[in-house]
Amino acid sequence: MSNAPLASGRHPSGAVTDRVRVRRKPDRGHYDRATIDAILDAALLAHVGFVQDGQPYVIPTLCWRDGDRVYWHGSAASRMIRVVESGAPVCLTVSLIDSIVLARSAMNHSTDYRSVVVLGVATPVLGDDKVRALDKLVDSVVPGRAATLRPTTAKELKATAVVSLSLDEASAKVRAVGVLDDPGDETWPVWAGTVPVRLAFGSPIAAADLPAGIGVPENVRRLGER
Ligand SMILES: Cc1cc2nc3c(=O)[nH]c(=O)nc-3n(C[C@H](O)[C@H](O)[C@H](O)COP(=O)(O)OP(=O)(O)OC[C@H]3O[C@@H](n4cnc5c(N)ncnc54)[C@H](O)[C@@H]3O)c2cc1C
Repeated sequence: MSNAPLASGRHPSGAVTDRVRVRRKPDRGHYDRATIDAILDAALLAHVGFVQDGQPYVIPTLCWRDGDRVYWHGSAASRMIRVVESGAPVCLTVSLIDSIVLARSAMNHSTDYRSVVVLGVATPVLGDDKVRALDKLVDSVVPGRAATLRPTTAKELKATAVVSLSLDEASAKVRAVGVLDDPGDETWPVWAGTVPVRLAFGSPIAAADLPAGIGVPENVRRLGER
């Protein structure tokens, strides 16, 4: 069977394509949806890569997952949105640093991390699907908040574009091994170990013009547990 991906990015067998097979440290590569979904769901931020006129651009943007697709949004006038909506190939990446790894040699310093790379062609999300997707963006951060908000106006919807990318052709890479020193280095007299890194939500700060009597809702309070 050819290694060339189909238009869908999948072999007819459903196997992982060559384009997303992790070659460097292949034991750290994962292709199951449970691993990929968990990393995407833990991330707030993605980087969207595309090429325009031969020049690669990698643009940071919020992202969220719904089912089998990853979504992002932007101003309808944004260059990034216009290029990806035109059918340009896209590479979306999310990465989470879990620890810095302090080894006994500079060479073996590292990070424990989780990351996902998704390849494909993005699809514009339109009509009621766009409204649902934007609600999902809010709810993916603060569950249940979308239903409590002032409804989005037609003008706001027109100014906002939403696109999505199938998770058909995706890889995860996970390093979770801590210190990996060379044999013999363990006796070198320097501290070695890991320092956890966390994306942490702080205490909510009310808007200066918040009317009296509106307290911090439970779903906002719970962000601190995320
Ligand atoms: C937070 C963080 C920090 C890192 N720091 C470094 C660093 O300092 N130096 C360094 O060399 N590497 C670092 N890496 C690993 C880096 O992302 C690449 O995996 C590595 O550089 C090999 O790249 P490659 O293109 O040669 O991989 P290849 O294995 O040739 O890539 C083949 C395919 O594997 C998949 N793939 C590769 N890397 C990843 C990934 N990270 N996540 C998901 N899929 C992937 C892609 O689909 C890619 O097309 C870091 C990763 C993370 C998440």
